[in-house]
Amino acid sequence: MDDGWSRQLFELARRDPFRRKIVLAERFQQGEQWLARAAAECGPMLGMEVETLRSAVTKLARPALATSGVRLLSNGETFWIVQRLMFLMAEEEAEPYVSRELLSRGIVHVFHEAITELRMAGIPSSELQPESFVDARKGRYVQGLLVRYEQALREGGMSDFARLLELLPELEGQGSTELYIVPSLHALTPVERRMLECVAGGSVIVLRSGEVFPATAAGIGADGLEMFRAAGKLAEAREALRRLIGAEIPLDRAEMIVPPDSGYEGAVQSLCAALGIPATYSAGRSVSHARVGRAARAYLDWVGNGYETESLLQALRHGSITFRAWSEELFSGELIRALEGSGVGWSRERYALLAEAGEASAAVEAGGQPSEPRRVLAAVFRDLFAALPDPRLESWTPLTVLRGLNAFLAACAPPTCEEDIAVLAELKQRQTSLEGMELPAVPEVQALFYVSDMVQGIRVGSSGPQSGKLHVSTLQDGGETGRPHVFVLGMSDSFWSASIRQDPVLLDAERARIGGLPLSSELAERRQRERALRFVRIEGRLTLSYCCYDHAEQKETAPAYELLQVARIWSNQPELDLAGLEGLLGQPTGYEASIPDAEAGVLSSAGQASGFSQAEPSISEDEWTIAGTPSTSKPSSLPLDASDRWLQRLSAGSGGRLRGGMTTLARSYPFASARLQAAQCISSAQLSEYEGMLSSTRFAVRYGTAAEGHLSVTQLERYADCPKKFFFSTVLKIRDKDVTVYDRARWLDAAQRGNLLHRLYQLYLVELADRAGSGPLQHDEALLSTITEEMLKEYEAFVPSPSPSILQKESEAIRRDAAVFYQCERRREGQGRPKFFELELGQDGEPLEVVLASGLTMRVKGFIDRIDELAPHRYKIYDYKTGSPRKYDENGYFANGRQLQHALYAVAVEQHLRRSGIDPEARVMESAYYFPTERGRGEEILRLQNRREELAELTGYLLSSIEGGAFPAVPADERACGWCDYRTVCGNEAELAREKRQNPENETMIRFLKEAEKYA
Ligand code: SF4
Repeated sequence: MDDGWSRQLFELARRDPFRRKIVLAERFQQGEQWLARAAAECGPMLGMEVETLRSAVTKLARPALATSGVRLLSNGETFWIVQRLMFLMAEEEAEPYVSRELLSRGIVHVFHEAITELRMAGIPSSELQPESFVDARKGRYVQGLLVRYEQALREGGMSDFARLLELLPELEGQGSTELYIVPSLHALTPVERRMLECVAGGSVIVLRSGEVFPATAAGIGADGLEMFRAAGKLAEAREALRRLIGAEIPLDRAEMIVPPDSGYEGAVQSLCAALGIPATYSAGRSVSHARVGRAARAYLDWVGNGYETESLLQALRHGSITFRAWSEELFSGELIRALEGSGVGWSRERYALLAEAGEASAAVEAGGQPSEPRRVLAAVFRDLFAALPDPRLESWTPLTVLRGLNAFLAACAPPTCEEDIAVLAELKQRQTSLEGMELPAVPEVQALFYVSDMVQGIRVGSSGPQSGKLHVSTLQDGGETGRPHVFVLGMSDSFWSASIRQDPVLLDAERARIGGLPLSSELAERRQRERALRFVRIEGRLTLSYCCYDHAEQKETAPAYELLQVARIWSNQPELDLAGLEGLLGQPTGYEASIPDAEAGVLSSAGQASGFSQAEPSISEDEWTIAGTPSTSKPSSLPLDASDRWLQRLSAGSGGRLRGGMTTLARSYPFASARLQAAQCISSAQLSEYEGMLSSTRFAVRYGTAAEGHLSVTQLERYADCPKKFFFSTVLKIRDKDVTVYDRARWLDAAQRGNLLHRLYQLYLVELADRAGSGPLQHDEALLSTITEEMLKEYEAFVPSPSPSILQKESEAIRRDAAVFYQCERRREGQGRPKFFELELGQDGEPLEVVLASGLTMRVKGFIDRIDELAPHRYKIYDYKTGSPRKYDENGYFANGRQLQHALYAVAVEQHLRRSGIDPEARVMESAYYFPTERGRGEEILRLQNRREELAELTGYLLSSIEGGAFPAVPADERACGWCDYRTVCGNEAELAREKRQNPENETMIRFLKEAEKYA
């Protein structure tokens, strides 16, 4: 299919070996490929160099630039000039065509493109007529923008690429001493053509082109073509690699061409990485392939998502960033846990929590407790915020974000490879260029968008072909390596047809009136012609493919016209239609390799197994070899990886259905075998160890009675509530991760609110007791109000609120709770006196040994909210509750063991007061669940302490059941499974256990539980 470019280049070199010959390519990499290929095909060439028009013009204009002191701007830099001018116009003009509110980066981008195009067409503002525009207002705006742009360049001593034309020396009719070789003049803008004349004079050779692709398919040899279609992009990429590896093609003899920004690049890249196939990428890879790119992404997400910690936590977990610049000793895991547990969660202000916690823990450290992670985190975020001014106090530009980003990367993402270094250098260079620009202030979110786009646009590791590596190019630059095996993926209509979309600023009708600007149809045609000319240069064996099904859209997709045309020409069937092409290509290839045995025929097992249904025609084994069809289009049966091998074996000889494979899996992997055994036991009628029935000889659980163990009353109640939940939380110690979750509608979570109220009530009563001495308490509403305000202030500083209105709403609710408490306490006057608050059971952190009526000794830990003295040696216990009193049934004294606290604490307090000598005659008469909040309506659920024998029996049953290893999923109320923290791991066990509970064979295992249930 070659058009003879290599021969032409070789002849030019041979004809005049000692003259400098400059090949003007669109990209350096492209020109290098032309020369390398010509040298390989025809022989060595002397005096050949590669330039782009931009580089050649810049070199020539450099002396004039130096003399005049004019600075040449990149395309990226001219964008910021246009942006500034548009903001200026929005402010200065009374009724601007583009108001400030509309000035998003997308709008600036399209106007920047329009200005660049007008400049490259050589149209100055003086020649631009507003009447040429459909909307004269737009015409005046574009003209005004162009006037200001020209002025900004002149007055600022700057030049864009188009202005270089003014600085180029005239060759005055003489030819250049160098010979300039160009592939085509077709796509040059008017300014570029004049530049070429200045650079080369008359010394320009345009390479000849012959027929274009796909007409050249007639020249493809009998074995020169393979075609296939696939049921997905990944399936297509896998099949292409299978064919490449299966045919034992050396990697550096193959090129793979994919449509850009289509998903194919990612598919090929990840497959090559997974299979260890070394490859070069003409368009490079996404910035996220570099660790620094991922770190940059995390930082921008962090700032963009209101400083939500999760973005940085993820990056720390994945190793994209590190905080080693602040501490060499601490591992990331320690810092992650500290940040998760810090209560920060989100919002810039909340990071102050770290500093406060750091200071507090520094004090603790003096007593020997390490507080390093929090102090390190406080330092990390202090430094990060120092590089990023608060947008509420200062206006932001993209430079603000970029400075913060570069400071962050310098500290948190040290480079580990060349790609990292390239990303850092690119971002540094962008910052330097922005430092010299005048930038208007924009909202924080806009500034972030600009920098996000900038980061997203960076490509890493762009490279030409290299020996020993597969070369992956794109539809925009592929086909020029001269490699003898070329795979063209993604030949579907959507990727190959030229989109004729009008420019949003310079419409076609306006272009026609202005003159010198190409219409959208001409631009599309140019792009297609350029590709068609490039593809002519593909030589050797060609494999063409397309994806015939779009999984995202769930619809079939059509092949490109060029694919159909190649099939028509190559098969000598000019009338071939789409149905005929499908017949020619056979069934679509699926994700896995086809089945190698003849029994499976040509039907890809994937097509069947994946459920992809494709209408006939199917094609028989024999038909693959008939004349005029691609004899090697049969899907490859080479297993690409372990999943291919597994799926092949599971589907071989099964008529296109996948077999289970569990038996094989169990034979190969012990974990799978154990899982199968568990499934069998769970499905049987007997409770087993897989459902929480532990063998107490193998796994002893000693909590309540053993000398080394202890239980809190809450844990014991949880066991009565659901033994499985107790097993997860107390035996296995699995708990929900302590992570602060952003809730824009809430200030304090339930625990924080509960703590605030507990402390508020305690401080108030302690103060009253101090004031009263031995006299009666005198309630003081003003005092309660003062303490409430102090507590609210303290919590406001400690837990920043998402908004002032939420803060006010929740503060008001807390004030109302305090008012309810005050009223309750007033009613209680004369019914005893608060004596102890937050009384700890036990001493020096050791649990308290509580001896029950039966003689059973139990080790208990806990705190009692409040104890009132009703009369000498007669006490009453209060347990503050901030929730609803609904679940505390007036008649349910023990609630089957779910309400033990009132009774167990009564015994414990009594023994504690007696043993400690505080009151050797102490007796707890009553216990109360007290609801001093608006929600709890100030209710009090009272329990007289007169059932000590029953308490001892019930506690005994529960402890015996725990120590007997019974932890089945039998919740007291199955509705609670709906909001249980363990429902994900527990699954539907409660449902299965419900039936097993009735099975007499299980009676012995759960007998103690059943006994406990008798205590209402
Ligand atoms: S999901 Fe239900 S059965 Fe499972 S632990 Fe939670 S409450 Fe118990």
